Amino acid sequence: MQTALAEFIRDTPEGREADAILRKCVHCGFCTATCPTYLLLGDENDGPRGRIYLMKQALEGREITDRTRLHLDRCLTCRACETTCPSGVQYGRLLDIGRKLVEEKTARPAWERVKRRALAAVLPRRSLFALLLALGRLARPFLPERLAEKVPASAPAAGAWPAPRHPRKMLALAGCVQPSLAPDINAAAARVFDRIGISLFEAKDAGCCGALRFHIGYQEEGLADMRALIDRWWPMIERGGVEAIAMTASGCGVVVKEYAHLLRHDPAYAGKAEKISAITRDICEVIDAEHARLEPLPRKKGGRSAFHPPCTLQHGQNVKGVTERVLARAGFELTPVPDSHLCCGSAGTYSILQPKLSGQLKRNKLSALASGAPEEILTANIGCLAHLQGGTEVPVRHWIVALEERLS
Ligand code: SF4
Ligand code: SF4
Repeated sequence: MQTALAEFIRDTPEGREADAILRKCVHCGFCTATCPTYLLLGDENDGPRGRIYLMKQALEGREITDRTRLHLDRCLTCRACETTCPSGVQYGRLLDIGRKLVEEKTARPAWERVKRRALAAVLPRRSLFALLLALGRLARPFLPERLAEKVPASAPAAGAWPAPRHPRKMLALAGCVQPSLAPDINAAAARVFDRIGISLFEAKDAGCCGALRFHIGYQEEGLADMRALIDRWWPMIERGGVEAIAMTASGCGVVVKEYAHLLRHDPAYAGKAEKISAITRDICEVIDAEHARLEPLPRKKGGRSAFHPPCTLQHGQNVKGVTERVLARAGFELTPVPDSHLCCGSAGTYSILQPKLSGQLKRNKLSALASGAPEEILTANIGCLAHLQGGTEVPVRHWIVALEERLS
């Protein structure tokens, strides 16, 4: 595609990156077939090709309207378009640049600004989120159904965290909302890792990975969260003998793997970010590599489970079929799930900001997951887990929790 970027952005790092991405797009439209919002709305501007064109116009200096912002807001950032594109268009990176520009050049209505500010203030703060969740649980019986389904009645018990005993060490991220919603996930991962000869631990006071604020329109604050997390991790990576960072939430994993890119122009952090991205793995990648140690361990087989691969894992990190392989080797019977490449509608804060589209995607996903009559639904990201659990009586769990149960 030919481009003529406007002077205000042409010679900036963002302008050069956007230009290179835009030039790769041949406008073939293959990506529209896998775009969840295009499939629901049937509007070219609610598909990747149309959004790319809208961003191109914005970058070329054309007027940016509220309609432009609306179509970009409706994008889930699921990146299904990216893994479909035959030309290697990095849509996600273009969207980061496009959204920043649109945020700067348009004014959101006051209510929308308040809502976004509140989400950006509450969700990344673990204790504040925990407090509000506890209050939400008390008020749950009086909440409208749409809100009540976002507040799980209780959280599963975490269980014991094994004492460090192995020379091999890996870091896990507690994250911001996961410890309150599902404290069992990291503890279960630590117990599985312990059985395969790896001691997993969390860095004290490590906060949010930065994804939340970065993707909700506060990119500088998101970058500040990333730097703060690097500061917490760095002493353990430099002197603590940590060989990898094992992520239990694919939504955080995808962003930490991109720290190298996001902080590449920051001389104080570029080197550290590069190292951190290079050693970051989703836990399925770690366990898959250690399968010889894991395979003899499961004590229980059978049971039908449906696996939902989060977009942040299959499209964002391009890790496809690995969790399924780990589960199959451990004796899980995985039921077929049609359209498993499509987003469930969780997508960070999308379920709060775009409830109608998100709700429809959730219903579609749950019906696809239920089609093989599973006894439980497994996934790999806390956002998808909480979102899906709000719409079904079938238990939804992180796959590592189900795997650990079979080893116990
Ligand atoms: S992003 Fe890729 S698949 Fe979509 S129109 Fe452009 S070249 Fe085609
Ligand atoms: S990221 Fe997802 S929702 Fe957004 S354009 Fe691509 S496929 Fe569509």
